[in-house]
Amino acid sequence: MIFLAQDSITTRHGVFLESLFYNGLCQSVALTVGEICGAKDVLCRVHSSCLSAHALGSISCDCSAQMDHAQARLIKARRGIIIWLEQEGRGNGHLAKMLAEPNKRLGLSQSAAYEAVGFRADARDYSDAVSILTHFKVASIVLLTNNPLKRRFLEESGVVVSRTIETPEATKKGERGHEPG
Ligand SMILES: [Zn+2]
Repeated sequence: MIFLAQDSITTRHGVFLESLFYNGLCQSVALTVGEICGAKDVLCRVHSSCLSAHALGSISCDCSAQMDHAQARLIKARRGIIIWLEQEGRGNGHLAKMLAEPNKRLGLSQSAAYEAVGFRADARDYSDAVSILTHFKVASIVLLTNNPLKRRFLEESGVVVSRTIETPEATKKGERGHEPG
């Protein structure tokens, strides 16, 4: 993981510092607020990309709501980090997401919908998030997520997770959101 660039970025929630990283295959972005180097209990959202929601404005998943929620919380807390990882469709790619979508509309769970079209239930990998947290020397995080697997992955990779905070209510309504937190 190499660090490429850094600049401020203003969103409708406030001003963040944007840092760009590259792992040899794809880019990852960190949005940070305040001083996080060496800090404990840093609010942290590890967010996977979603072309449908973030670029096309789809409301069939919760990705945009989760990003808004995370940005608002960071600004309010005046400290934190959001890590954006390029892994569409639970890491299976956008094609997989498009193929799985009709199955979701028929009522299949996220996992079953992906498996029904020949993909893994969840192929996401959070290694780059671990590298980025290490880059910033974050001592411990408060993770914004509804996904216990994400917490487990980070902890097994050496990240200290003090606790988790659930993301917006919509995500908890069964399997509607295609990224469970
Ligand atoms: Zn989405």
